Formats: sequence, structure tokens, C-alpha cells
Amino acid sequence: MISVFGSVNMDLVAYVAAAPGRGETVTGRAFRMIPGGKGANQAIAAARAGAPVTFIGAVGDDAFGPRLRETLLAAGVEVGHLRTVPGPSGIAHIVVDDEGGNSIIVVPGANGQMTGPTEAELAAIARTDVLLLQLELPLEAVVAAAREAKTIGGGDAEPYTVGAGPRPHARDGARGGSPVSVILTPAPARPLPDELLGAVDVLVPNEHEAAAITGVADPERALDALLERVPEVVITLGARGALYGSRDGERLHVPAVEVKAVDTTAAGDTFAGALAVARAEGRPPAQALRFAAAAAALSVQREGASTSMPSRAEIEALLA
Ligand code: ATP
Repeated sequence: MISVFGSVNMDLVAYVAAAPGRGETVTGRAFRMIPGGKGANQAIAAARAGAPVTFIGAVGDDAFGPRLRETLLAAGVEVGHLRTVPGPSGIAHIVVDDEGGNSIIVVPGANGQMTGPTEAELAAIARTDVLLLQLELPLEAVVAAAREAKTIGGGDAEPYTVGAGPRPHARDGARGGSPVSVILTPAPARPLPDELLGAVDVLVPNEHEAAAITGVADPERALDALLERVPEVVITLGARGALYGSRDGERLHVPAVEVKAVDTTAAGDTFAGALAVARAEGRPPAQALRFAAAAAALSVQREGASTSMPSRAEIEALLA
């Protein structure tokens, strides 16, 4: 079981031959409104990849709020802890070019009003194996969620043993089990306080985020630098796959599945959602990464974010 404490946006997507430069106006070929936000995307990716998922976040009291709620619900995501706050919902303005590249402006809206988890939300997190976090909510809220998730089960987090399967945890919501495994996608990139990274089990940056956080461009060396701060790290490398390292000394490069990319908008979120599912099922790193890479490869072959995520059956068919 997975919990996601994160953002939900309406993505306003324009499809265009080439993205406009500054001061330039271009005519696009299509426009779509697609529910997104890194948190919601990861929640939907995890639900479609086969896990029960609880989403904790906020929508506004505007026209987008109910549509965003319904989208999560329709994907099978539990929305009992989705807050409605006064003001607009978050939006993301996305430009997708004909080569499948994208550029994105996020206006946080309701996401910017999120605070740390309430008691009820924390109890919901306690019932899950994995908590997925990103950085599209106020940093204080994300830090609170990560740290409080680590206090569930009482005391300091025991390090997650690679390949040991899901941690035992408090199914009834009481804080009596072991801590939830925390996976952080550090996007959008920003300096990460030790207070946050100290509560993270697996950090999943793309190569640009890894470089921004460490100041080191080479992904192998950035991985080493990140492992000084987090027990396990996955750096995604787009069409070149993903690099994995753990403090136990395990090191893997998992190639991407070769496909024709149409729209890479939610590749990273699909990867993170599927990775969480595989880990919650206790799969060892190599297997979990292959599962995530298959899900992401399927998603880049379709347009959109939440609309592009593959089902469990599709992922398994690709891996077979
Ligand atoms: P985004 O911000 O667009 O959601 P990202 O930059 O966070 O994505 P990437 O590193 O681009 O993440 O991609 C994540 C994973 O998706 C990769 O590790 C890879 O497995 C898969 N992937 C991305 N692009 C491709 C591609 N062109 N072909 C196959 N798989 C891909």
C-alpha cells in the first residue's frame, strides 16, 4: 500500500512544432486540459501499476477542484484526505514539442497552502508501506510529512534492508509498527536540507536534479555524493535508463526500454510510482528498477501525464 503526500494540478498542455523563444508567438496544433501535478501523477501511476493508493494534498474551491478529485477517484486513488481550500487549484502550463520534449511552468495555487500532515492524514500514512514525496508543496510541509512518517512506529528509523521486503507496519493506524519507507523525487530541484534528507530512504532525481543538488554533472559521481546523504539513490537518465546505488555498495545501471517517445511529460512520475509499487511488494532493486523502467517506457509512447500511465497488465506484458 502506497501513500502520496503531494501536489495536484490541472495541466494546460499546448502541442507545438517547436516551443516559442522569448518574445515569440507560435501557433500550436492542439490544446488539452489534463489533470496532473507530480503528486497526483505518481499516485495514479502507482494505482495503475497495481497498488492501493491514498492521496494527501489540496485542491482549490474553483472549477478545477472537483475535476481533479474525480480524476484521482476514477483512477482508483483514495481521496478521503484530499483537502479543499479557498482559492484556485494548482495549474501547470506545459508546452510539448514535436520531438517529445517539454517545458513547464507550475503555479502552485492550493498546493501552496498545504501544511504538514494532520493526525488523521498521518494515521493514513501509517497504514502504508511506502510514502511518495516530491517538492511541489511548501518545503516545510514536505519536511513535516517525511519526518513524521519516520516517527510512526516510534523512535529512529531502522535502515531499510535492500531486498528484505516491505517493512512491517501499523495496519490499524496506531503508531506501533516500523517506519514507512520514504521515497523523494526532488523536483523541482532546490537545495535539500539535511532535516529532509535525514528522513528519506530513497532519493529519485533525474540527472539534471542530481547535478543541481550536488553541483556534480557526472551522474556516477553525483550518485556517490548523494549516497553520503541518503541510503539509496536512483538517478533517472531519460532514454539512457537509470543508475542505482545503495550504501550497502550495490550499484546497477538499468537501461531504458527502447521505444519511440511521443511525450515524456510524466516519465519520471510514472517511474517513481511504479518503483514504489515494486518496493512495497518487496522486490529487490534490479527487479524494481526494471518494473519502473517498463512503466515509464510505456508512458512516453502516449501524450499527456495521468492519461499516459500504463496498467499493471501492460507493464507485465512488456516485461514478459
Ligand atoms: P519528466 O520530468 O519528463 O517526467 P524526468 O526528467 O523526471 O521526466 P527521465 O530521466 O527523463 O525523468 O525519465 C525517467 C525514466 O523514464 C527513465 O529512467 C527511463 O526509464 C524512462 N524514459 C524516459 N525517456 C525515455 C525514452 N525516450 N525511452 C524509453 N524510456 C524512457
